Amino acid sequence: MRQYLVAGNWKMNGSHDANAALLEGVCAGRAKAAGVEVMVCPPAVYLQSVAAAIVGHDIALGAQDVSEHEKGAHTGEVSAGMLTDLCCTYTLVGHSERRTMYGDTDARVAAKFAAASAAGLVPVLCIGETLEEREAGDTERVVATQLDAVLDAVGVEGFGKAVIAYEPVWAIGTGHTATPEQAQAVHAFLRGRLAARDEDLAVRTRIVYGGSMKAANAGELLAQDDIDGGLIGGASLVAEDFLAIAAAAAESASA
Ligand code: PEP
Repeated sequence: MRQYLVAGNWKMNGSHDANAALLEGVCAGRAKAAGVEVMVCPPAVYLQSVAAAIVGHDIALGAQDVSEHEKGAHTGEVSAGMLTDLCCTYTLVGHSERRTMYGDTDARVAAKFAAASAAGLVPVLCIGETLEEREAGDTERVVATQLDAVLDAVGVEGFGKAVIAYEPVWAIGTGHTATPEQAQAVHAFLRGRLAARDEDLAVRTRIVYGGSMKAANAGELLAQDDIDGGLIGGASLVAEDFLAIAAAAAESASA
């Protein structure tokens, strides 16, 4: 059975004071989501202070991005080894904001995935279609291409315990959430795609949904067979909202 993962992507938000207040709330309510894996992904500059604040609270730490390079002349970049040094166990790769605004091609995302894995991080591979692609009936082709780029590069063995985050671009930060049926259909398609490579890979890989997930819609999304958690942006910045989603995952897990 796959354990639900509820991850908060703080994006470029926060400050020492705001993070402390947010984490105080999340840590205090963490017990509401027993059995669910909970993760926070703060901006890189706050990883160290967040790591210290969550010690002993059963909350995993993830980065929002990672360099595909191991070290050297890459000004401004953060390597996978540095992230493990800062107690990260996960890193996002291929978030749509990186793909659309910062030039993360499928090939670069695959290289980042490989660099993360080589350093012992678990990659959370973000994939998803734009509104135009969905309306053109291209959703499956787009997400298959994004997934295959990584699988072709690292193979079934190299995929390890990686998580897939299906994040339709049209739902991220827009308030327009995919319906449970729309999300489930893509998740099932992705699981089938994994199964075509390897049955065990399909059974073990967690596929989480992201895109305007909030307390009000989390329950019905998380009740879908192939939705194994959520990657939460906006709602992860309010402890109560983030915890409500984690609690909905705990409820689905026990149903
Ligand atoms: C995200 O940034 O990964 C995300 C899903 O954002 P939001 O929940 O705000 O749509």
